[in-house]
Amino acid sequence: MKDMITIRASSLSALFDCPARWSAIHLEKKFLPSTGKALLGKAVHASTALYDQSVLDNQGLTVSEAAAAAVDAIRKPEEDVIWLEDENKGDVEDIAVSLHIKYCHHIAPEQEYQAVEVTCDRLEITDLNIALTGTTDRIRKTEEGFGISDIKTSKSIVAADNSIKTAGHAYQMGVYELLAEHAFGVAMSSPAQIIGLNTAKTIASQRVATAEIENAADLLIGNDGGMGVLEYAAKIVHSGLFFGNPKSMFCHKSYCPIYNTCKFRK
Ligand code: SF4
Repeated sequence: MKDMITIRASSLSALFDCPARWSAIHLEKKFLPSTGKALLGKAVHASTALYDQSVLDNQGLTVSEAAAAAVDAIRKPEEDVIWLEDENKGDVEDIAVSLHIKYCHHIAPEQEYQAVEVTCDRLEITDLNIALTGTTDRIRKTEEGFGISDIKTSKSIVAADNSIKTAGHAYQMGVYELLAEHAFGVAMSSPAQIIGLNTAKTIASQRVATAEIENAADLLIGNDGGMGVLEYAAKIVHSGLFFGNPKSMFCHKSYCPIYNTCKFRK
């Protein structure tokens, strides 16, 4: 019997994007320093989580007090960071604080959170011989029940008309739903919610918005219509066929630890 392989929920899209890169990072444990872009995402996650937890606990932390967590994450990162040519530490700090403030004023008041950053240590899917791990950003209460919310930061996740393209995000939302149900012990019967925060440089372009995805977890397990997404993931990791994808947008020396030796890129 093959060993059970652990897949972090946040890495699932990377597995489908370039299995060779996923294997190098998650199985061979080859790491690269972080980037300013990744640090910005972490900073906003840290400060908004602090704020939401304070609201949940009635601690009374102000928006600007919680913003200090974003500044700390950028000024005192826990990992090594390489600043790319187009990244500037001061700009990243300004964007992180600005997005934090917009989130606290425009998104958080509309939510009824039940839990913040819910970590599931291990959810074993024995049929597929894989285990899922990961942290769900938020669990919120809605009129229909409970649902997960996932904060996503990127340059243009929110369009000018405040819409968010949800295509391609559903299966990852589905995994967060499974993890949240396992860790929280309650069914996630409401649609999954993406909270999009634009990391653009100008304040006007730093749009924040939400979008919903219905029945995300249905994609994960197969039915008469074919294999589920988790079955594809299990087949890739257990086959050992970690082929490369040189067309990946992460096929770059700053994002791939085997960039200099990868045969698929030649
Ligand atoms: S160099 Fe490109 S193709 Fe090769 S593993 Fe890295 S991302 Fe994939």
